[in-house]
Amino acid sequence: MVKVERTPTPPPSLAVEKSKANGSYNLPDVVEALKRDFHEKCYLCENNALQAPEVEHLNPHGGDPDRKFDWNNLFLSCSHCNSVKNQAKYHDKILDCCNIDPEAVLNQQIVNNHVSVTPLNSEEKSLMTAELITECFEKRNTGIRTYECQTLMNELNTTMNTLYKTLEQYEKRRLPRYFKALRGMLSRTYKFSGFTRTYIRSHLAEYPYLAEYVEI
Ligand SMILES: [Zn+2]
Repeated sequence: MVKVERTPTPPPSLAVEKSKANGSYNLPDVVEALKRDFHEKCYLCENNALQAPEVEHLNPHGGDPDRKFDWNNLFLSCSHCNSVKNQAKYHDKILDCCNIDPEAVLNQQIVNNHVSVTPLNSEEKSLMTAELITECFEKRNTGIRTYECQTLMNELNTTMNTLYKTLEQYEKRRLPRYFKALRGMLSRTYKFSGFTRTYIRSHLAEYPYLAEYVEI
């Protein structure tokens, strides 16, 4: 999870739909705005090019129109993460990555081939968000969830392996194209950038020239 810069102005359909008895919060203008602001990534797992994107309510609306049509409560997620998040323990307890920089309060790493997200402070939202992101990659409690988690881990590992390989190439031969590729992978717009950026931040002694690209 990384910081997302949300366009301040709500898509126009939200106010119109809010006034209707059975209004919709996911009309094309909302979806397009979310796609753009979230760089086509699920805000929880950070996979991109989503096959099954969903408009997710950060804080469940429970039928309350003030929450249901609140632009600041709408997030782009994949159906897998949305379904993992749908547990009472997470209600109203997940960090708003449009307001807080998640990298300042969460350490997102791969340890022994498993995702390990740990909170950097003791606030409830940091704890619960760390637990949720970990579950998005590791909650293999049904056959389908196991399949989805494996697919997601494969995607994450592919991205991380590309990062490691590009670092190695740049260390051997300081070619501008490798540096450009590294900068791209450390941009918050890149898939799984919470993990790529954390990796570099924890290896700054080896890659000091990348420090400015992973600042929080
Ligand atoms: Zn996801």
